[in-house]
Amino acid sequence: MNINRLIALSKSVQFGKILTSNARHATKEVNLPHRTIRTHARNLAYAKDLFLGKVNKAECFPYPEIGNEELEEINSFVAPVEKFFTEEVDSKRIDHEAKIPPETLNGLKELGLFGIQVPEEYGGLGLSNTMYARLGEIISLDGSIAVTLAAHQAIGLKGILIAGSEEQKAKYLPKLASGEHVAAFCLTEPGSGSDAASIQTKATLSEDRKTYLLNGSKIWISNGGFADLMTVFARTEVVGEDGVKKDKITAFIVERAFGGITSGKPEDKLGIRGSNTCEVSFDNCPVPVENVIGEVGGGFKVAMNILNSGRFSMGSAGSGMIKKLIEMTAEYAGSRKQFGKNLSEFGMIQEKFAVMAQNAFVMESMAYLTAGMMDRPGVPDCSLEAAMVKVFSSEGGWICVSEALQVLGGLGYTKNYPYERYLRDCRILLIFEGTNEILRMYIALTGMQYAGKILTGKIKEMKKGNVGVAFEMLGRKLGDALGRKVDLGLTGMDGVVHPGLASNSPYTAWKCPVEKQMIVPLSANHMGWCIATEYCGSHAG
Ligand SMILES: Cc1cc2nc3c(=O)[nH]c(=O)nc-3n(C[C@H](O)[C@H](O)[C@H](O)COP(=O)(O)OP(=O)(O)OC[C@H]3O[C@@H](n4cnc5c(N)ncnc54)[C@H](O)[C@@H]3O)c2cc1C
Repeated sequence: MNINRLIALSKSVQFGKILTSNARHATKEVNLPHRTIRTHARNLAYAKDLFLGKVNKAECFPYPEIGNEELEEINSFVAPVEKFFTEEVDSKRIDHEAKIPPETLNGLKELGLFGIQVPEEYGGLGLSNTMYARLGEIISLDGSIAVTLAAHQAIGLKGILIAGSEEQKAKYLPKLASGEHVAAFCLTEPGSGSDAASIQTKATLSEDRKTYLLNGSKIWISNGGFADLMTVFARTEVVGEDGVKKDKITAFIVERAFGGITSGKPEDKLGIRGSNTCEVSFDNCPVPVENVIGEVGGGFKVAMNILNSGRFSMGSAGSGMIKKLIEMTAEYAGSRKQFGKNLSEFGMIQEKFAVMAQNAFVMESMAYLTAGMMDRPGVPDCSLEAAMVKVFSSEGGWICVSEALQVLGGLGYTKNYPYERYLRDCRILLIFEGTNEILRMYIALTGMQYAGKILTGKIKEMKKGNVGVAFEMLGRKLGDALGRKVDLGLTGMDGVVHPGLASNSPYTAWKCPVEKQMIVPLSANHMGWCIATEYCGSHAG
């Protein structure tokens, strides 16, 4: 998708209060050239294959395209949301009062933004991942709103969407999609942050086996002060096939109305101050057995799948924020004079704009590539790609906001300008939805685990006397010893990148000999190994 074209097109669409009906009856105002969406299921291993030194060109060249109809639909959603955020969202007030005013929340609900990915049959907008990412570019302009909406739908109700039963979906999704009910995701506990598998909250089955009694405490819960519905993770007793009893994690849909739930005071935070974050405690909270999401004992996979499926949007959110910063700071740099020149004439100031533009471009490219992959048929596992987007975008965002603030000099450091707020707001991105340290381990170890498995298979083949595999491995080893250049098919006659990039293509970083890659997964330490396996959720391996 050509995102610049998309942005340009979005500007031609009129504002309408009720987005849902707008989109459904979108008029075909724009004449677009024919665009196609590739419909083949992806091979599921784009990022993982990089660890084998393979680049699946077909996955990213040409860049995932979307159809005309979807493009028009995106436009019909983008324009009113952009208008609402520009004209009706007062981010300074939200930050100062540490609260999103009710009228702003109502406006977001009217725009359908509480049900972006909830299917239309349950009253949501039913948008694809690509469309969700595009809206994320605008929603991210206010960090508090972005986190409130993400806590509700990217994690709060996502469990019902991806692992809930038909009954659960029909019962809960309509009110969540309209925003009548707000959702939260309750995983973290005082003793269990990054090590999410160590949670202690307990759910004990009643004697009549109809209800679980929930006991324990969750901390840092976004929307925790007012959420009507929560996805809660707790330990339950499970009898294994071998008859041995084990404590395993189960996911539950918990209504505040069930009783026994108390919320603590909102945390006084550095940034995203308008989002509500607090402790939520469960004291003999009765949860009907039919409110288990997925299988009893299968809750950890549900949690990881929820988190893995939402992270990709941090790329488009980050690029949306940076593009806004470029717009704001460019105006200043073009008019502020020092040493008889505009700031924009100084090389070191120009470099800051280059850094911002470069980061926005990469984030946008990564996010929409991943979203495009996720939108293909089947149940694509893009958890590794999404983790890469999250790590890059959160760190890039932090650097870029700091650079933007620097362009303003002293003014940037004051509350008269929004830069200090952007700086405070975006700092959280390196911490939640999996800290960047944990995600780095997840990316590296999952990739190596994948490569290790494939190479172990090759070794088995060699041991069985498969001469072809033996020659292939020997050839590679010999080639590497002679300093051979690995041909990834990116350059040359059939190449897909500009010849000028041949020598410094980022993919050359993946040229390490396959044998060396294998040694690492086989010797990975136990803790890191657990992270790779656990965070993989159901896609492990
Ligand atoms: C504003 C906010 C909103 C949140 N919203 C929610 C929510 O809605 N629901 C929810 O369940 N949780 C939520 N969280 C919790 C969040 O997911 C956790 O804070 C996060 O997972 C980290 O856990 P921790 O804070 O306990 O840090 P710790 O796990 O104690 O980690 C502290 C530091 O050590 C590092 N570290 C830990 N282990 C390792 C290791 N093995 N190797 C190297 N470094 C390591 C971490 O990366 C981090 O830098 C929220 C947090 C905040 C601040």
